[in-house]
Amino acid sequence: MPKKTIVIVTLVAVILAYALPASAQRKGRRMKQVDLLVLGGTLVSMDKERRIVLDAGIAVAGGRIVAVGTRREISGAYAAPQTVNADGRIIVPGLINGHTHIPMTLFRGLADDLDLQDWLTKYIFPAEAKNVSEEFVRAGTRLGLAEMIRGGTTTYCDMYYFEDAIADETAKAGVRGVLGETIIDFPVADNKTNAEGMAYVARFVQRWKGHELIVAAIAPHAPYTVSEEHLKAVRAFSESTGAPIVTHISETKREVDDSVKTKGASPIDYLSRIGFLSNKVIAAHVVWPSDEELDLLKKAGVGVIHNPQSNMKLASGVAPVPQMLKRGLLVGLGTDGAASNNDLNMWEEMDTAAKLHKVFSGDPKVLSAEEAFEMATIRGAQALHLETEIGSIEKGKRADLVIVERDSLNQIPLYNVYSDLVYATKANDVETVIINGRIVMSDRRLLTLNEQEIKASARRFRDQVTRSLGTPGSKP
Ligand SMILES: [Zn+2]
Repeated sequence: MPKKTIVIVTLVAVILAYALPASAQRKGRRMKQVDLLVLGGTLVSMDKERRIVLDAGIAVAGGRIVAVGTRREISGAYAAPQTVNADGRIIVPGLINGHTHIPMTLFRGLADDLDLQDWLTKYIFPAEAKNVSEEFVRAGTRLGLAEMIRGGTTTYCDMYYFEDAIADETAKAGVRGVLGETIIDFPVADNKTNAEGMAYVARFVQRWKGHELIVAAIAPHAPYTVSEEHLKAVRAFSESTGAPIVTHISETKREVDDSVKTKGASPIDYLSRIGFLSNKVIAAHVVWPSDEELDLLKKAGVGVIHNPQSNMKLASGVAPVPQMLKRGLLVGLGTDGAASNNDLNMWEEMDTAAKLHKVFSGDPKVLSAEEAFEMATIRGAQALHLETEIGSIEKGKRADLVIVERDSLNQIPLYNVYSDLVYATKANDVETVIINGRIVMSDRRLLTLNEQEIKASARRFRDQVTRSLGTPGSKP
């Protein structure tokens, strides 16, 4: 190399050595400070354009997503004390379990392979009468929360007793919930009369008002267990407080037949006539609606939660989900309680939903993997009336993010991301979970719950439930 060239190269190197850090510093001063960055990986946004970003970046501040883009865009504009590396992984919106009874994890496997009425009246209701206490509910909730976080569920909609204790455990674990205190026309564990139940709900809704994770709701069990007068009071309560209404509607053919016999109308028709339906209602199941009833739900803006595995296990029937989607109804997915499923795994629920409707209709095109994934994310958010807050990875929404491994044998090789997520990914492929900007699971380590303690207390309750029913306790 001639001397002159060497001098020039040296000069350039010296200039670069001084100029580059200076420009980075100048840039650094312009960097916006946020709480958390997620960098790398394939982002499946579920926004309106269904944008997928390769080598993505997300900036999070104050529990919300402040920017979504490529890694380059985000790391060039934002700085944070904490960065999650999502290289080689898939980032999806937190999954939404639209219907469950979380403490029923403690009844998992107590009674299987029975009709809904036998299952409810011979096993579940007696087991609940003898065992459900605040302590039971708290233990079952912690078990369910741990299972849900491990499976990438960041929001769930619940209906049970002692819902205030459920809300307390849920908030402590850093999980998001639409939590409904049950109203039912017989004495239950926490409230003996309708007046007590309504008073409980009023305190409950007041207490959690404005909380960033908890939406307190009122949950009339079903139109066949709550009188017309009490249903009307529930509707009035929802109207005056803004609390959502969580309920079961049209779960079995028998419910519809009984309703026609006793009330002269099928359940949705009846609820419409008494003025119960509204855009605050979240209705689980809806397995046996007529076309006219689907129109009533659509008109009222009711959210519907499809629970394919529970409906299959109890042989309740197949909800007309493709027809609901065609009509533009708000349809999400749920697991139902663990006693009728028997897990809280939304990956299985998506997979089952997509396949059940194919085999039932004889048409493999009737419900796509992408639609099943929508029902567990953005459509689920719509069904819970929370679509402005959750369900997609977009600027302004809550930072509920799930980072999924894409290196498991069951995922390789990858051609289509929705196909991979719905048909191949399993709950144990979830690595890291962020809810409201807080990391609640990091590299499969639960950060807000004590797994060993949860397992031990669940086993203690299993022994108690077994003794209470006088059944010969099986100890597997
Ligand atoms: Zn249910």
